[in-house]
Formats: sequence, C-alpha cells, structure tokens
Amino acid sequence: MTKEFKLILATSNKDKVREIGEILKDTPFVAVSMRDEGFDPDIVEDGKTFEENALIKARAVHALAPDCYVMADDSGLCIDALDGAPGIYSARFCGEDSTYPEKFKKIFEMLKDVPEDERTAKFVCSIAVVRPDGSEFTVRGEICGVLHEKPMGDGGFGYDPIFYVPEFGMTTAQMTKEQKNSISHRGKASRAMAEKLKEELG
Ligand code: IMP
Repeated sequence: MTKEFKLILATSNKDKVREIGEILKDTPFVAVSMRDEGFDPDIVEDGKTFEENALIKARAVHALAPDCYVMADDSGLCIDALDGAPGIYSARFCGEDSTYPEKFKKIFEMLKDVPEDERTAKFVCSIAVVRPDGSEFTVRGEICGVLHEKPMGDGGFGYDPIFYVPEFGMTTAQMTKEQKNSISHRGKASRAMAEKLKEELG
C-alpha cells in the first residue's frame, strides 16, 4: 500500500515506533518518531489523567509539525486498593530514581493489610491523536490483572514482573512480546487508534 500520511509519534522509544508501525502496516499511515523528524521538545506532563497527558504531548509535537498527524500515549499501573495509584505517576512512583524492585517493595508494604484476592490492578494506556486540521481524539486500552508479590519473568519492563494475568497463568514479564501485545493495554489502544484512522480515510 502507498503510504500517504506521516504519523509522528511523540516519543523517542524505538520499540513503540516499531510496534505502532506494525499495527499500521495495512493503513496509509507511516509511523515515524519525533526524533527522526528533528523534534525534541521539553514537555511538562502536568495533566490529571492519562488522556490529558497524552493530549499535552501530542499537541506539543503537533505545534512543531502542524501539517501532520501526531500521536502520543500515556500509560501506567492503577491499583484498585490504592484508589488507582500510582496511575499517571507510575514512572515516578517512590521517587524518579527508584528502581523497580524498590517500587515493588513499596507497593507490597502499602498492600500489607489487603487480602490477596483484593490485590487487583490494571494497566491503562491512553493514545491521543491530533489531526492536521487540529482536531483530536483519544482512545483507551486496559488489561486487568492481580499483583504478584514475588516478581516473575524477565521480559517486558516496568511493573511487568508483578503483573499476573490469571487467564494466562503468568505475569506479563513471562509472556512473549507477541502474547503481551495481543492482550495489553497498549496493544488494545494502538489497534483502536489504527481502526479509527482507517475508518476515517475510508
Ligand atoms: P509510559 O507512559 O509508556 O512512559 O509509561 C509510564 C510508566 O507506566 C512506565 O514507566 C511503567 O512504570 C508503567 N507502565 C506502562 N506500561 C507498562 C507495561 O506495559 N508494563 C509495565 N509497566 C508499564
């Protein structure tokens, strides 16, 4: 298919660009990173929701490339017994420089009085797109799981080793990339975004 539209991703994460590129392969969109386009804006993510933060990033890059489609995502772990924390603060939880094992320890300290069957959580991903005419939309993907005190698996990143998915009998860190992508918050949101873009262009 001839690629007619550039979709700039407001990220410099090569894996995300590759993943979105694969999802968009049957569409007229070609995914490129903002770095490849020579943009590296300082963006203050001070939104109160995943959607707001994704929109803040997408708008900041769109301001530099107003003729293009721009997309940005924002994601995190929401723990039910902690009223959705760490949520939008997932990367910064326990301090910007803390390691993931330190974050896991802190979480289980906070959950010490919560029965195991109530240690439910979800990963959330919001994707925002700004179109060349300045109009916008967001889509959201979620995956539910249970927090597993003993980290398992060495795939994935971030909170994956403690995010256990009962239907699969493993954590997202024990899944292959393809398995995780087929059920993950980011995979679902990315596919919803691709569907919407495809529909719009007929
Ligand atoms: P970002 O918005 O994609 O940069 O993600 C923010 C933070 O949420 C990450 O730094 C991780 O701590 C957490 N997170 C988001 N998605 C995942 C995932 O798929 N696995 C594990 N942790 C995740």
